[in-house]
Amino acid sequence: MQLQFLGTGAGMPSKDRNTSALAVKLLEECGSIWLFDCGEATQHQILHTTIKPRKIDKIFITHLHGDHIFGLPGFLSSRSFLGGEELLTIYGPKGLQQWVEQTLKLSNTHVTYSIAFVEVEEGIVFEDSQFIVRAMPLEHVIECFGYRIEQKALPGELLIDKAIQLGVPKGPLLGKLKVGYDITLDDGSIVLSKEVTSELKEGFTVTILGDTKFCSNAITLAEKADIVIHEATFDHSTIELAAQYGHATNTEAAKVAQLANAKYLILNHISARFLKSDLIPFLKEAQEQFPNTFIANDQTQYEWRQHQLHEL
Ligand SMILES: [Zn+2]
Ligand SMILES: [Zn+2]
Repeated sequence: MQLQFLGTGAGMPSKDRNTSALAVKLLEECGSIWLFDCGEATQHQILHTTIKPRKIDKIFITHLHGDHIFGLPGFLSSRSFLGGEELLTIYGPKGLQQWVEQTLKLSNTHVTYSIAFVEVEEGIVFEDSQFIVRAMPLEHVIECFGYRIEQKALPGELLIDKAIQLGVPKGPLLGKLKVGYDITLDDGSIVLSKEVTSELKEGFTVTILGDTKFCSNAITLAEKADIVIHEATFDHSTIELAAQYGHATNTEAAKVAQLANAKYLILNHISARFLKSDLIPFLKEAQEQFPNTFIANDQTQYEWRQHQLHEL
């Protein structure tokens, strides 16, 4: 799993930071990419990456503010031009479907693929054999959601020597055993997957929060998460303004990660008021509360490998 930040600014684009978008690359896990928010010019940001728009098959929107959705119509249209034919599912708050459909209709935009909409409410919004995605409302000035992606436990390692000892021939049967199927050999004997694999491996948990002030649902969504991505529009000196505008500070984000017993915190949605030189003390302030904190910049990439977060 890799994370690629496509836009890390707050409210409007600046020269250094575009509006919100984050690609969660699950290419190794399931061959697809999930996009979280799609601020204006997200498709331009994608041009600077190796991401193929047709590989994006799910878009999760946190809320309907322009800095989180104004890139959708352009992206949807280009995905079509670039040969996207597979179903795209868009998850988001009430009103999103109407806005997208009206925009595409009025601009006479026809796409070559089907779009499914899922109106998000608190609870499980997606589940398959590999992942479960939950949503909870946050506290912003309009309805806004945070998402928690949990990867289900993975099959253990195949104990090849043991399988061969039990008479399993080299070839596809070994692969079946590895992913959990029991098999029957030519002589009629049955080999159970659990006999020839090690214990299940724990999957990862990533919490991606939309705009919010410090709130208890953020902590619930972040509970024991491996990675928490939290907005930090303000810093500690402007903590009262933050709450007033429905946003959080660097230290409040750190407090969420700390109270949730998370492993890593990545700050994003950074205001253009902060100059590059301000970001060193900005980060330090958060790290005093929660040491494993990073600040995302546009195009920063992280990889989750061997239970650790690596910046690429
Ligand atoms: Zn925002
Ligand atoms: Zn907002």
